[in-house]
Amino acid sequence: MGTFLKGKIYNLANRRIWVAGHRGMIGSAIVRRLKAVGCEVLTATRAELDLTNQATVFEWVRENKPQAVFLAAAKVGGISANDTLRGEFIYENLAIALNVIHAAHLHCVEKLMFLGSTCIYPRLAPQPMNEEALLTGPLEKTNEPYAIAKISGIKLCEAYRDQYNDDFISIMPTNIFGPGDNYHAEHSHVVAALIRRFHEAKANGDAEVVVWGSGTPRREFLYVDDLADACVFAMERYSDAGVLNVGTGKDIEIGSFAKVVADVIGFKGNVVFDPSRPDGTPRKLVDVSRMTDLGWTASTTLRAGLEAAYADYRNSKAADR
Ligand code: GDP
Repeated sequence: MGTFLKGKIYNLANRRIWVAGHRGMIGSAIVRRLKAVGCEVLTATRAELDLTNQATVFEWVRENKPQAVFLAAAKVGGISANDTLRGEFIYENLAIALNVIHAAHLHCVEKLMFLGSTCIYPRLAPQPMNEEALLTGPLEKTNEPYAIAKISGIKLCEAYRDQYNDDFISIMPTNIFGPGDNYHAEHSHVVAALIRRFHEAKANGDAEVVVWGSGTPRREFLYVDDLADACVFAMERYSDAGVLNVGTGKDIEIGSFAKVVADVIGFKGNVVFDPSRPDGTPRKLVDVSRMTDLGWTASTTLRAGLEAAYADYRNSKAADR
């Protein structure tokens, strides 16, 4: 493990901070969290700033002069989107990482946080997965293009730290859910997918709900506002080449998780599994001891997080009407 900047804080208060990806679930949670910090938050819509366009990104950073950057913009999706939109996932995520990280270097950004994902770790990494597992074995095939783009972003930050002394750090969140999630029936992650499916089944009086795969994979779920809190915490306190895992340190089988979602929503029917859909990685539990040693732990229970996510889903449906 590397050395942390113990005692030395990069204070975000009063700084100009760009949240790239502020419309997304994670970026919008970071913007919410930064309200308590007392800083100037810079954002740009996709129409104003296409992050896959290098010249536009360089120009925007030169003009807007952020001092710190949270790079939360990414093309994301669940197991099906990752597996089918393979070209889009690698191209867009590589382009975003390359353009934003290099622009931050060119225009002397003081600190940058790159958000990755725990799918960067080998498919069969020892559990819980610690940060040293990176590049020690083959990746899970369903999300390999996304993972390769995220690993490239991590390595950009590391190489720029090595060669130019840029203070660029990388954080690896476990599976995230909460307000602002994407509820697309096919392309969403499992939490949003199941919230929608159980809600619709209850409304339609259906006898059963189908859950993809065997129900046996295990996943760890972190509420998005906890992640945003961890991002601000690490931005202020961590300054090193090694990546930082963020999670709860607890995982759950998809089959049991589906029952918790059913219970939160009040669906009383049966849960059945569809083995024709992929399971993905068998288990993805992260070792959170680096963050715990730094002094951060998650605070929202799975149940409370799911209740908040379900309230958000109902509000977003009401807003659509
Ligand atoms: P992953 O962690 O990258 O595999 O992302 P997902 O959140 O898409 O999937 C997590 C697990 O939930 C996988 O084992 C899926 O097969 C399972 N799963 C069960 N039902 C669903 C569903 O309706 N949508 C998604 N995306 N995954 C599901």
